[in-house]
Amino acid sequence: MNKRTGLHQTPSLSLTTIREGGKRALSRALSALEAEEGSEAIARLLDEAAEHAQAHVVGLTGPPGVGKSTLTNSLIRHWRARGERVGVVAVDPSSRFSMGALLGDRTRLDTDPSDRDIFVRSMAARDRLGGLSHEAVTAIVLMRALFDRVLVETVGIGQSESDIAFATDTVVLCIQPGSGDSLQFMKAGVMELPDIMIITKADLGPLARRAKADVDGALSLAMRKEKDWSVPVLLVSAVDDTGLQQLIEAIDLHYSSLLDSDRFLAFRQDQSTVWLLDRIRRKFGEIGLAQIDPAAEVTLAGGPFMADHIITKELERRLNSTIRTK
Ligand code: GDP
Repeated sequence: MNKRTGLHQTPSLSLTTIREGGKRALSRALSALEAEEGSEAIARLLDEAAEHAQAHVVGLTGPPGVGKSTLTNSLIRHWRARGERVGVVAVDPSSRFSMGALLGDRTRLDTDPSDRDIFVRSMAARDRLGGLSHEAVTAIVLMRALFDRVLVETVGIGQSESDIAFATDTVVLCIQPGSGDSLQFMKAGVMELPDIMIITKADLGPLARRAKADVDGALSLAMRKEKDWSVPVLLVSAVDDTGLQQLIEAIDLHYSSLLDSDRFLAFRQDQSTVWLLDRIRRKFGEIGLAQIDPAAEVTLAGGPFMADHIITKELERRLNSTIRTK
């Protein structure tokens, strides 16, 4: 028995047991992902989950206070009303500085505890401010195999948007009226990353329309991420529900355009390879990276997580023997 996770031996950790065990089993499995990170059992579970990916993963990002949590609540309500099973990964960078902020913040998501088909997991941004930690990426991979829709809420301007772009299918970037955010985004060079842009708090009227005009202008100068998708800029208010329906439709439309394109499988495969490269770079730097052929290793190992497990062991072995011979 693992004391931290309350799990018996990890071989029982499979998608089937998690599905059968409901929210409690998922909660425990997510804790096991953190506690037993890098173990073979976890790598197997994650590769199984990656293979059974079924959800549309939506990333919702933007600066603090822009209205992400409020919008997350609205999106959850809409998707649940349509009978979709929804998982949420809420990444909170403030917890890096004050542990209390995390729970305080996330209780703002008012979900029904008796609803089996909505699950919210909050996590700290850990080593990457506003970005996605390894735990967040693995939680997304697992939840992607269990729900119809996974919403990933992150805070940030800059680096975190590229993190979210590789871990999610549709990126929604929120901009606050009157904040000069669009200028910031242009400077940070992240205008190319979102698939949908929204100006929140549209009930603020002229300020919101002005922000939309700025974003339209900035977008017209930016490179397009996909040539068959033109990024909509929507005015949305969670207060009076303005634009919410358009947002829901835009999210669906982007997903169907992804699925219709023959790029989708390649896109998910690229996500695996990018993830593996990032992982090895963090652990072993450029020298480690130079020793692997990521696409081949993923195929050989049967998935990126097992590939990570095998490569890590091998590079550690090589490092140890080099040190010993010196
Ligand atoms: P987050 O930090 O991005 O998650 O932002 P929150 O969802 O917590 O919202 C920050 C503040 O903006 C809160 O006081 C909300 O009540 C307010 N807010 C959120 N959405 C709207 C909106 O559509 N209109 C207005 N006027 N205020 C909003």
